[in-house]
Amino acid sequence: MNRSAQTDFASSAAQMRRQGVARKLLKLQGNEPVRPHRGSYTIQYRHNRRARHYIVRVDRPGQLTVTIPPKGTLQGARAFVANRENWIRQQMGRMKILEGEHRWQIGRQILWRGERVPLRVERTTQGWRALLGQDTIQLPWGKREDIITCLVRAIRRLASEELSLRTAQLALELGVEVRSVTIRDQRTRWGSCSARRDVSLNWRLMQAPSWVSDYVIVHELIHTRHFHHGPEYWQEVEVAFPRYHEAELWLKRHAVLLREPSQ
Ligand SMILES: [Zn+2]
Repeated sequence: MNRSAQTDFASSAAQMRRQGVARKLLKLQGNEPVRPHRGSYTIQYRHNRRARHYIVRVDRPGQLTVTIPPKGTLQGARAFVANRENWIRQQMGRMKILEGEHRWQIGRQILWRGERVPLRVERTTQGWRALLGQDTIQLPWGKREDIITCLVRAIRRLASEELSLRTAQLALELGVEVRSVTIRDQRTRWGSCSARRDVSLNWRLMQAPSWVSDYVIVHELIHTRHFHHGPEYWQEVEVAFPRYHEAELWLKRHAVLLREPSQ
């Protein structure tokens, strides 16, 4: 368990750093209230000591954030926005169109790593990205897809890295061997394991708390030894994962997630 302890330490250090930065921003922001803008959107102006130039960001249709560098002024920021009015309107229009027919909507809350967080999508001058809790996810945007479809593809890629690594760690701890790990878009199950020891995991496990996704992985790993749900199987699960009842309950209660993000 050493490795996961290190990971936790690293992520809490990163979190503290981020909180420090957020506090600084908040302090500066105190002097600069959110200003409603003429027309159909509002702009939040924000000073950032580390910014090197003005940055305009479309947070969602109707909401802009403009970052002001140390030498910048509010007037300068306004001029910067005025020069990009066409681009801004274009991006906002695109965001609206690109949402598609999904339960997931920009600005609404979704479950992410076990917590309810707002689904935020930004269009910066560099490209599209989604902000989910502490994660920033770059979105490769294909012209024919809606933005939620792009986001799901990006989350699947992230799941493929994180869940495969976690499966390898847990397999090592349990002393079992796995032939392959595949991340799937299953509508009825969180994971599965074939008789040939191929483990499949649902990308939606990224929405569950890490102890729950750990349980799903352990559950599948123990199937490499017992290809059934008999008493020997559960006995071994209990030893490997004493909280398994609680995890099973969480998965049942959140089964609705398996139908998301599409209607
Ligand atoms: Zn099973």
